[in-house]
Amino acid sequence: MTKQDARLDVAVLNKFAKAELLYEGKAKTVYKIEGEDNLLWLDYKDSLTAFNAQKKGSFENKGGVNREITSIIFRFLNRRGVKSHWVGDRDGNAMICEKLTMIPLEVVVRNSVAGSLAKKIGVAEGAEIKPPLVEFYYKNDKLEDPFISDDQALFLKCVEGQNDLNELKEKARVINQALIEFFSRLGVKLIDFKIEFGRNERSEIVLGDEITPDSCRLWDIKTGERLDKDRFRRDLGRVAESYQEVLGRIRAVWGG
Ligand code: ADP
Ligand code: UDP
Repeated sequence: MTKQDARLDVAVLNKFAKAELLYEGKAKTVYKIEGEDNLLWLDYKDSLTAFNAQKKGSFENKGGVNREITSIIFRFLNRRGVKSHWVGDRDGNAMICEKLTMIPLEVVVRNSVAGSLAKKIGVAEGAEIKPPLVEFYYKNDKLEDPFISDDQALFLKCVEGQNDLNELKEKARVINQALIEFFSRLGVKLIDFKIEFGRNERSEIVLGDEITPDSCRLWDIKTGERLDKDRFRRDLGRVAESYQEVLGRIRAVWGG
């Protein structure tokens, strides 16, 4: 990372010590940091899950690859004026982040039809969507993260009011435009993606979680080849190679 990108000096980052386990998720493990109430330690895991963890897999250094992809993207977004929780990197698969109170919504942006939307509306995968769709899913594993309307999100008190939902949609659209450019420079088409937001101690809405081939659909512009988690979901093979390919192209264009 360049000094300009780092929100904290490497010497400071290296002093942080992982403390109590807070949460073991499907793709990341979240820890407290000794003496730092506003920061978290996120370890990216090598495991891979799909269909609400009914399908499980893993590959070596998947956590390291996803951590690095997320770090580079969050630094890129910060340069574009999009605030994220990224504070700095530690070791291979660990990231230091600002602690957020997460908003229990998965915000999905779609530039082309794919996945659950293709099934739901009976339109072939790959059909362009203009303007892009922004959708909310209620983050709840037991309910399998259902699609919800704005009114349902308000009834569930996921946020305080419609203004917050509008802010999430606007931020998602801005992030989408930046990411389309980020990936097109790699020869990759951004089909769709999922992001999560939370509030920091100043109550600002900040981009959290990750942006990786787990959470995006990424198709090679020339060949249409999928370079994302659909390779795992659909047993297409070359899962690890595709994630590494995405990181390799990102490093080549945007630096490591
Ligand atoms: P899941 O919870 O779906 O299994 P992960 O394995 O990625 O997903 O777990 C990471 C968890 O950490 C998620 O629940 C995510 O909402 C949460 N999270 C991500 N960033 C932050 C943050 N900055 N502060 C607090 N929680 C976060
Ligand atoms: N997505 C995600 N986590 C989820 C659900 C979806 O990261 O729990 C991502 C997924 O990888 C894709 C986009 O959100 O890039 C849209 O997913 P979709 O609704 O089509 O669901 P899927 O077909 O993946 O079940």
